[in-house]
Amino acid sequence: MSVDMETQRHALVTGGGSGIGAAIALALVDAGMHVTITGRRLDVLELLAARHPGKMQAVVMDVADATSVAKAFTQAKTQFGPVQILVNNAGQAHSAPFIKTDAALWQQMLSVNLTGTFHCTQAALPDMVVAKWGRIINVASTAGLVGYAYVAAYVAAKHGVVGLTRSLALEYAKKGITVNAVCPGYTETDILRESIANVVVKTGRTEEEARAEFSSGNPQGRIVQPEEVADAVRWLCGKAAASVTGQSIAVSGGEVMN
Ligand code: NAP
Repeated sequence: MSVDMETQRHALVTGGGSGIGAAIALALVDAGMHVTITGRRLDVLELLAARHPGKMQAVVMDVADATSVAKAFTQAKTQFGPVQILVNNAGQAHSAPFIKTDAALWQQMLSVNLTGTFHCTQAALPDMVVAKWGRIINVASTAGLVGYAYVAAYVAAKHGVVGLTRSLALEYAKKGITVNAVCPGYTETDILRESIANVVVKTGRTEEEARAEFSSGNPQGRIVQPEEVADAVRWLCGKAAASVTGQSIAVSGGEVMN
């Protein structure tokens, strides 16, 4: 357990049932928090929460749907009280050449990655203002800091998340609330596995070749592990990071420097 962490706080992690979100949820439980994990698949969430009875709960939430978000926050607060730490991690990354990016794909990327962050942040902020304390951490991406070809909608959404982070940090700076983003490079999760499978199907490359291509963009020559992103989030929740706000911290082996 971290000596730097005020324990027993209530953290809500969107998309907490898998990948980076699950690693963050586990890191925060390990630090003594009560953690709500949310997502659309209750079975996936319950499998993880069941391993931490009384410390982790599973709540269904579609971040793209404001009604679902409001309902989920009410449910989450019933057991663990007001949300003091919000980790906006839920996300989707679909690729397409820009000219083949139809309005539906564009809207889906914005709805889940950007508007989802907006809905959850609006739901969490009033209680944080009352408590005069809060931590909001947005899992953006290196795609929130630089452009990449064939993922224009995702890149636009993640740049939006970084912009939202910066504005909110200023708006809530005097209210005991910090707002930061973590920006992972390619990280070993389902999103990456799907991207690798996509490259294999579309280019005829082997899985090893596709994987090597993804890791070659990282100066360390490797894929980031979810636990490394989780550790950055845990640090942002602690007392030592109280002066850190409005930042977008790349966890990418030096791929992006800002
Ligand atoms: P992942 O394992 O696929 O996790 C994504 C999570 O988001 C899932 O648990 C999913 O749960 C949830 N989710 C998706 N759409 C949702 C919606 N409409 N409402 C609520 N929850 C939703 O992938 P991951 O890599 O851990 O992604 C986590 C975050 O990291 C994302 O924001 C992603 O953009 C970011 N990121 C990932 C990488 C990478 O290389 N892996 C790099 C940079 C940034 P349900 O399906 O159950 O809803």
